[in-house]
Amino acid sequence: MNSRVLVVGAGHAGATVAGLLRQAGHTGPVELFGDELDLPYHRPPLSKKFAEGQLEQWLRPAEFYREQDITVRLGEHVTAIEPAERRVRTDSGEARGYDHLVLATGARPRPLPAAGAELAMSLRTLADARILRKCVAERRRLVIVGGGYIGLEVAAVARANDLEVTVVEREDRVLARVSSARLSGILAEYHRNRGTRILTGAGVSALDGRDGRVRAVVLDDGTELACDAVLAGVGATPRDELAAAAGLRCAQGVIVDSHARTSDPHILAIGDVTRRPLHTGSLARLESIPSATEQARQAVATILGTAPVRAEVPWFWSDQFDLKLKIAGLVPPEPGTVVRGDPATGRFALFHHLGGTVTAVEAANSPAEFMAGKKFIASGARIDPAGLADAGTPLRDAVIH
Ligand code: NAP
Repeated sequence: MNSRVLVVGAGHAGATVAGLLRQAGHTGPVELFGDELDLPYHRPPLSKKFAEGQLEQWLRPAEFYREQDITVRLGEHVTAIEPAERRVRTDSGEARGYDHLVLATGARPRPLPAAGAELAMSLRTLADARILRKCVAERRRLVIVGGGYIGLEVAAVARANDLEVTVVEREDRVLARVSSARLSGILAEYHRNRGTRILTGAGVSALDGRDGRVRAVVLDDGTELACDAVLAGVGATPRDELAAAAGLRCAQGVIVDSHARTSDPHILAIGDVTRRPLHTGSLARLESIPSATEQARQAVATILGTAPVRAEVPWFWSDQFDLKLKIAGLVPPEPGTVVRGDPATGRFALFHHLGGTVTAVEAANSPAEFMAGKKFIASGARIDPAGLADAGTPLRDAVIH
């Protein structure tokens, strides 16, 4: 209860673990180091609501950290971990000792591998979102490279603000990394019907421009897309350099177990920087807020020696136009898919199953279906596909007992 805890990284994972430690009764010193100068903030609005309203949505007000006796060291960069001495060094020249170190260093945008890439914006931080907001207010033609969550969420907001929007995706479908082919198709159509141009199977070879101002995106086949702004949303890479330099086991992310433990008994890692076990037992990077929160709870249980946290089914959400998407589980390579509702109305759920056992649900504007699907996955329930497809059959009656 009174150990000294240092948390490196003041994003959602880092700020959450600091707050939860106090909530669980931890009385020892807690220090939170953050690279950025802003207080820990909510990241989802940066891609979903960057055009209007308050961008600065703090996870907790400044008084919270004071009242909870959590020392927040903003703009202070941890430069090295010395595991044998159980201390870190910071760019202010200080050395700080710890009993438990929690790494929550997150991820950074993957650079666009194209000539002139410096002409593109990226989106990860509040500072990035402030630039994007200004750009959407002032420019007319936006090319978005990457049709992942960032690309599609930003495309929806930009179209709603009357920009001409083109999404360039190198896979043969949007959201290829995280969603089923069926959902990709539905979403692409939804965006196209609202005026967004989507090019799939298309790589970018260069950005052309002058004096820091982009003029066109040049595709691999030589096509030029005239534009006056480019956003790259081509994935994120874990910021695991500190961990790797300290000798922790890393493989594109810090390897952790289901207690947030790394290969060093005094160092934990949580959030986007980790490669973590899933409910199925396999390891993956889950860049999502629910995963960061779950791992923060795991870290608190490990530090305080309390009961382990029960494994959650991974889930994600996204807002695109009026679609509130919620996705749980992992879509198997060749699933059986049950469609409940009508995709054309924007209210539907796709249940993916292997021989009747649900492994994933992708729901749009259908919270009850999402919740039921998540429960089916957690319990390994077997469902009757015909019953599930019939919106008139109550969800619970689609389970085979
Ligand atoms: P992402 O989901 O990995 O999507 C990036 C997409 O860009 C991938 O389909 C990728 O294809 C494609 N791509 C990569 N290089 C490209 C190139 N040179 N030209 C064209 N397309 C290219 O990543 P993201 O959208 O940038 O988001 C960053 C992270 O933030 C992700 O982890 C994401 O999950 C997270 N995020 C989540 C949410 C949410 O949960 N709602 C919202 C925003 C961000 P390949 O697979 O072939 O590389």
